[in-house]
Amino acid sequence: DELAAIGAGSYRAVLADRRLAHLREVLRASVGDSVGVGVEGGELGRATIVALDEQTATLELRLGEPPPPALDVTLVLALPRPPTLRKVLQQATALGVKRFVLFRAERVEKSYFSSHGLHAHALAEDLRLGLEQARDTIVPTVEIHPEHFGRFVRERLPALSEGGTPLVAHPGATTPCPRAPIGPATLIVGPEGGFIPAEVAMLMQVAQAIDLGPRILRVETAVVALLARLAP
Ligand code: SAM
Repeated sequence: DELAAIGAGSYRAVLADRRLAHLREVLRASVGDSVGVGVEGGELGRATIVALDEQTATLELRLGEPPPPALDVTLVLALPRPPTLRKVLQQATALGVKRFVLFRAERVEKSYFSSHGLHAHALAEDLRLGLEQARDTIVPTVEIHPEHFGRFVRERLPALSEGGTPLVAHPGATTPCPRAPIGPATLIVGPEGGFIPAEVAMLMQVAQAIDLGPRILRVETAVVALLARLAP
């Protein structure tokens, strides 16, 4: 509920309410006990309970090295089929993406939006795997936009790019993908079957098209290629 740094890699956490009740009533923990601490189901490290009463519990927690810096990147991705989504979430999280935005396009199967991979616990598991790989602890956010593409582009995309121009990976674009450092960026990656011409036309009005070279890459490869170019 409250977390304060008390030294390199050491934190003091104060828990109340639901988490305190879990410690006292479910774990039946007492001062001196060591408990696992995690985010969204993934364990980050062990914490020792240093004080415990009816209002709060105070824990001291060592996380080892501070987390590596995140890439200030929002990845805006046409929702791919579930196994591809898993790869993208894990790999892009390991590379440091801060926010995922999953949207619908003409060549995105509607059924993907009801897939198991979009349930909160499945998403959390993929993010955790990516974080653990990179020894990171800061969980990216995931937004899901099943509304029509046109509405998403008009109503949500401008706010996601916070005044900057989003970049859309588009094979054959005349501008090559920029290299780091580029500051905060919003990157759009299309569906496995590509955007339809009407979608391309709409995106060209609001985003800068960038090319990743003459090879057409799978979605998961395009994401890694993009992020690798933008990583410091
Ligand atoms: N036939 C589709 C087309 O031509 O757009 C291929 C789509 S590709 C499998 C999926 C997505 O990856 C694309 O929409 C694009 O965002 C990205 N992508 C793949 N290769 C790329 C490249 N060489 N340059 C830029 N983006 C690429």
